[in-house]
Amino acid sequence: RLEQYAALRDVPCVTRDGVPIELHLNAGLLVDLPHIEETGAAGIGLFRTELQFMIASAFPRTNEQLKLYRAVLDAAEDRPVVFRTLDIGGDKVLPYMRAIEEENPALGWRAIRLGLDRPGLLRSQIRALLRAATGRELRLIFPMVSAVEEFDKARHIVERELTHLRRHGHGLPERVLIGVMLEVPALLFQLDQLFARVDFASVGSNDLVQFLYAADRGNARVADRFDPLAPPSMRALKLIADKANAFGKQVTLCGELASRPLEALALVAIGYRKLSLSPAAYGPVKAMLLQLDLAAVSALVAPLLDSAAEPATLRPLLKSFAEKN
Ligand code: PEP
Ligand code: MG
Repeated sequence: RLEQYAALRDVPCVTRDGVPIELHLNAGLLVDLPHIEETGAAGIGLFRTELQFMIASAFPRTNEQLKLYRAVLDAAEDRPVVFRTLDIGGDKVLPYMRAIEEENPALGWRAIRLGLDRPGLLRSQIRALLRAATGRELRLIFPMVSAVEEFDKARHIVERELTHLRRHGHGLPERVLIGVMLEVPALLFQLDQLFARVDFASVGSNDLVQFLYAADRGNARVADRFDPLAPPSMRALKLIADKANAFGKQVTLCGELASRPLEALALVAIGYRKLSLSPAAYGPVKAMLLQLDLAAVSALVAPLLDSAAEPATLRPLLKSFAEKN
């Protein structure tokens, strides 16, 4: 199996009926970087910067952050890398940070909320990212944004840091693209405002699905109560893909859904053309896509999401399609 996947490394990722699908990798540490070469991925679709913070015993200094970010850009060479600013709080805990007592940490003071309230930390991280990308392209996304105003504030911090670096005669990135992580359902009802502002978006289906169904992503007891391939989540995901296309903005899906072949099949069927996967999922998902008659599965799925007689979940239907495909 593994050899079979390795043989696919240089095969362009195009469906059987000729539609190119970009596959990127999710990463977060130096050890992830060799996977870019191994898989031949198009880039890093999600670099989770908090992992460096989570395995450290104290806040990593700006210089240590800068070194990691530079190593990531070096390893990716000309391929795009999407860095996500710190996503701490909720399920992502820093052992050395004073624990904040919260009844519902997943809904609490976390990610960009914390970043905007304590801008010192966010500012120094952004400075490290900008400096690591001197002369290169920098792509940034902010986690857990729930209102466009938060995106505006976060972008403003990036602009201020750019001005600061320019004023002090530092080198600058050749280009800075600023996007958003789409993982809080409230953003589904601000998509026009959002896509008018962002350079690109990345869908965090782990959190989006958790919040849509009000079911803890880490709690096996409630995880079985709903299926991400059920119409409510599929419609939400399709709405995002359609809106991104209408605005001509790039959208990648980087949650774990993209790392499971049947779920990845559903995602391309509803319009996603860029997926970001965990390294182990790369081979199986690519092998599935190379075999796929995309037009056929899209034609199968579209009417179901519009019809009154919809199935409770698309899973059995997609499964039998995949078996025959
Ligand atoms: C997500 O929420 O889907 C995601 C990609 O981010 P994380 O799993 O790190 O929350
Ligand atoms: Mg998330």
